[in-house]
This record gives sequence, structure tokens and C-alpha cells, in this order.
Amino acid sequence: MPRPRCLRRVHRLPGAVYFKPRGIPLVDLEEVGLALDEFEAIRLADLQGLYQDQAAEQMGISRPTFGRIIEAARRKVADALYHGKALRIEGGEIIMASKRMFRCSDCQHAWEVPFGTGRPAACPQCQSKNLHRAEEERGQARSSGAGCGRRLRRGKKE
Ligand SMILES: [Zn+2]
Repeated sequence: MPRPRCLRRVHRLPGAVYFKPRGIPLVDLEEVGLALDEFEAIRLADLQGLYQDQAAEQMGISRPTFGRIIEAARRKVADALYHGKALRIEGGEIIMASKRMFRCSDCQHAWEVPFGTGRPAACPQCQSKNLHRAEEERGQARSSGAGCGRRLRRGKKE
């Protein structure tokens, strides 16, 4: 029986999705496919320099799973660079991390904060510390924050 797979949380999509060696026609190139969760793993581990357990938490997956993803990702990038292959970034079992919305109780200014950056210290408009999470975002955060474990347990009951 195939094991149900967890969706990996991804915080931003790549700006460019295709890289190729200059001067070689596409038809002559081999292509390496880098999934979006692998791309995100490289961003978290290699660009932001997070420890694997922190990076795993950001993506909503276990540390061993993160370890497998980052290993595969690095091998693909190395393969593309070393062998002069084209690199296509797409696909993967992902969900986009929701942004959290905060509202200032004093001036009613509302703004979005990316997931994982912590609670803002003060309102960017009036510097008030009287902030709260905006209601409409809580529902979203809950649905996309549904952990893998919960999904797995639900799967077993059915
Ligand atoms: Zn304010």
C-alpha cells in the first residue's frame, strides 16, 4: 500500500524556473527537474543557513524527510552544474504557506506578515503595540497548517 505523503510547505516560488548553459540549443541539452520542495529546501538550508530541524519545521515536515529532500536537491543542482544540464524548477507536493494578517487596534491599519517571521513588535503605521491577528487569516492558517500527522491518522481510520 503506498504511504500517504505529506505536503511540504513552501514560502515563496522561484523568480526564474529554467536555467540552461549558455550557447547550447535546448534540443541538445539534458534536463534535470528540481521540484519546488527541493528548491525551498535549498533556500532554507543553504541560503538562509537554517539547521535542518528548523528548516523541516518551516516546511511542516520531519527532519529525516527534510534530510532526504535537501540531499536530492543538492545532487540535482550539482549534476546540472557539473554536467552542463538544463535545470527546470517545477512540480512537487507542496502547499503555499499562508501569510498572517495583523491589525492595529488603534489605527485599524492591517498588514500581512510572512509565515515564520514571528509576531510584529509594533504597528508599522502608528507604532502602537496594540495588535491582534485579523480574524479572516486565522481560518486560513488553520487549514494550511494541518499537520502531516493529522492527515495520516485520518487516513488510517477510513
Ligand atoms: Zn496602528
